[in-house]
Amino acid sequence: MIIKPDGTVRRRVSALVLQTLLDKDYRLIAFKEMKVPKSLAKMHYAVHKEKPFFPWLVDFISAAPVLAMVFEGDDVIQGIRDALGATFVQRASSDSLRGKYGIWAGINIAHASDAPETATTEIALWTEEGGLKESSNAEDQAREYIQRYISSGSDFTFELRNVVKTAIEHNDTSTQVLASLKDLFSRDAEGISKKDTDTLSEVVFDFIKEEVQKKS
Ligand code: AMP
Repeated sequence: MIIKPDGTVRRRVSALVLQTLLDKDYRLIAFKEMKVPKSLAKMHYAVHKEKPFFPWLVDFISAAPVLAMVFEGDDVIQGIRDALGATFVQRASSDSLRGKYGIWAGINIAHASDAPETATTEIALWTEEGGLKESSNAEDQAREYIQRYISSGSDFTFELRNVVKTAIEHNDTSTQVLASLKDLFSRDAEGISKKDTDTLSEVVFDFIKEEVQKKS
């Protein structure tokens, strides 16, 4: 499972996602905060390489740090997918993690393997290309992360959704929209560089521009 940049740069959101999953009694056996190299992003999303949104997807997951993890447990794949909710944020039920904290469409806070075979392939890929490795203290690291970030102010989901939704509805691709995204993504981003939160904002802004263009 990967908490994507839009979840990780909002420290409280990633802490809340982690807490929800640890509460389900899955074992966390690997945990790593990392920037995703474009080469790994392309391999991870290779199944989508013919899709029009592939270049955007690669830019999105490599824009700012992610949390890469391996969970283990009975029915863990289905359990995590159920907890996350539908892929597209607007279709995710309001009590799911994406329904609560996802921003818009595919800007959906997390990726989770969809079957044992994909989990095996993805774990091997992230181990070889991303340096993810099993560790006996993965769960301790995650609990420390939760403790450090869970009570940090707002998660800014409402504000970010509002900026994206309003911009698309009003065909607003002005620099003010980008400035708002940069501001909101930097508010709860302790330990993450301004350069990374700015890059993530630009990728979300690209998504807005594409949506506006599709309408014209
Ligand atoms: P999946 O392999 O189904 O998890 O899809 C990969 C990711 O691609 C999703 O989690 C979304 O972030 C993104 N995605 C899927 N469909 C679209 C789409 N039509 N436009 C933009 N992003 C998409």
